[in-house]
Amino acid sequence: MNDASSSELFKPSIDVIEQANVPEYQALYDYSVNNREGFWAEQAETLGWYKKWDKVLDESKAPFYQWFTGGKTNIVHNAIDRHLTNANRNKMAIIWEGENGQVRNYSYNGLNREVSQFANVLKSMGVEKGDVVTIYMPQIPELIFAMLACAKIGAIHSVVYGGFSTDALASRIEDAHSRVLITADGGWRRGKQIDLKTIADNAMKRSPTIEVCICVKNNDLEVEMEATRDFWYHDLIALPIASPKCETEQLDAEDPLFILYTSGTTGSPKGMLHTHGGYSVYTSTTHRMAFDIKPEDRWWCAADPGWITGHSYIVYGPLINGATIMLYEGAPNYPYPNRWWQIIEKYGINILYTSPTAIRGLMRFGDRWPKKHDLSSLRLLGSVGEPINPEAWKWYHQVIGNGNCPIIDTWWQTETGGLMICPLPVTPLKPGSATKPFFGNEITIVDDEGREVAANEEGKLIINNPWPGMARTIFKDDERYKALYWNEVDGKWRYLAGDSAKKDDDGYIWVIGRMDEVLKVSGYRLGTAEIESALVSHPQVTEAAAIGLPHELKGNAIHTYAILAQGVAGSEELALELREHVAREMGRIAMPEDVTFVDALPKTRSGKIMRRVLKARALGQDEGDLSTLEE
Ligand code: ATP
Ligand code: MG
Repeated sequence: MNDASSSELFKPSIDVIEQANVPEYQALYDYSVNNREGFWAEQAETLGWYKKWDKVLDESKAPFYQWFTGGKTNIVHNAIDRHLTNANRNKMAIIWEGENGQVRNYSYNGLNREVSQFANVLKSMGVEKGDVVTIYMPQIPELIFAMLACAKIGAIHSVVYGGFSTDALASRIEDAHSRVLITADGGWRRGKQIDLKTIADNAMKRSPTIEVCICVKNNDLEVEMEATRDFWYHDLIALPIASPKCETEQLDAEDPLFILYTSGTTGSPKGMLHTHGGYSVYTSTTHRMAFDIKPEDRWWCAADPGWITGHSYIVYGPLINGATIMLYEGAPNYPYPNRWWQIIEKYGINILYTSPTAIRGLMRFGDRWPKKHDLSSLRLLGSVGEPINPEAWKWYHQVIGNGNCPIIDTWWQTETGGLMICPLPVTPLKPGSATKPFFGNEITIVDDEGREVAANEEGKLIINNPWPGMARTIFKDDERYKALYWNEVDGKWRYLAGDSAKKDDDGYIWVIGRMDEVLKVSGYRLGTAEIESALVSHPQVTEAAAIGLPHELKGNAIHTYAILAQGVAGSEELALELREHVAREMGRIAMPEDVTFVDALPKTRSGKIMRRVLKARALGQDEGDLSTLEE
């Protein structure tokens, strides 16, 4: 077996250490877990509150924990209002570039005007505190305005990723009983227009709750507008009701902010509910400490705002921290595979945060594309969404970061609201490990009986404590939330993440993958991600998936799928070579039964491999909920 813990250690440079927002991990970590409420209260003090909280943590309804109860706030108070009274007022809040090269910029002052106008439009449409507004938009500034406008007036937003189609949108509208839908005529992807309004029309036919549809004009698509239901946004903001002044609603810390559905990698998506107070504190603290954000930084989280990564680290965390955020609507390789690198050079981006799948996708085109550009503005690089295989980690570190930028590999979930396991810039790194728990969090790896396993043994990842950014429930389904995630052991509640992981001798955590993606082969437990990583370490493979299928003797047998590098043809010899390569890397026990060469893998639209779909196909079974499958 390859022993992950023995892999190389990448130490931060003196520069990184000298300018780090948090210069040392261990002492602050010890303090944060021994004085959890004190630590979080100190972080909360850095934000503005209309009224200070009475209690930092209320455990009386555990596992339905509440944070900063009695406090009055609104996330918009911290994300926008506070900046209007300080030097950030005229600072750039959002830089947006469209796929066709169009650019729009907004200062914090400008952002406030846009959000206030949008909020007044929503009010004029009868939207009230507590209403759920569904947002289905391309990656344009209006998507962010709409989210913030909802929050500003106390409405709950439910953002549905603009890459989804009718089914996914309709089922989320139904689940949320939304009365108002915000959309756009269309979006851009690879030079083609995506017909969002038409998809929205079809979804609305199935969702009778929608009474009002507000449509932003982003393209020149012909769309149908239903006279009493559909309104052009540009018509509405031209009316006197859309004044650029709007009071921010003073809310309870525990008032709901948004619903967001999980990616649906393992089953049907769950509508996680997050609240104003704790989420503000958690996203801004994690963003400031782990990503070391500085006032002069230009921050680019290249996720879509429609995922939790976008909610927490495009919109809320960075705006609360007064950062300048980059937003790009379009494909990473359009018109050429240097598009992202061009953006980094053009705007002087300092921190890039993206996913392993995006990194592998761009790596496939070779070094010559990034090498065309001056990427020296980059200071830190981030990764999220899946375990990052060491091959991709090293490419990201060496070719994109010129060996100077720490890789902040962050493990977290829609449910957790923000980073849970991640290095600080000063943490020595091991490629493929998200390293250590973020402050305040105690994370252990346990066996089926709930006992902590020994170092280097694989088990279930659990979080032993509440944290401010945690989801409060599954929307309208407290029972399911409690049953799915929480376990009571000796009177203490533990959060079960659903992932399997191990801790090495240095206490570094290696997330292996989802619990149901750990294969038991001849009595050994193997993670699909490890097998995939071994395959991808072969120079001719760029993407891979591994699944287990029932086998009479072994219990499970490993079957794999591989996408080959550009110009490489699949053959029986290559399949054998790849199987032997995995056996060499991981041990004979992990040698796959076969390798199937494919052009694409079934992925969620956030880029995660849906192994359950491969498995169902291989077994000729029903493929289950496919609403989040990429086309
Ligand atoms: P669903 O819960 O609907 O099946 P999902 O788990 O993919 O979908 P998300 O909340 O978007 O939905 O993803 C969280 C999961 O992504 C984690 O539980 C973990 O499996 C994986 N993940 C995220 N970041 C990392 C990381 N840095 N390293 C390893 N795994 C990660
Ligand atoms: Mg999940």
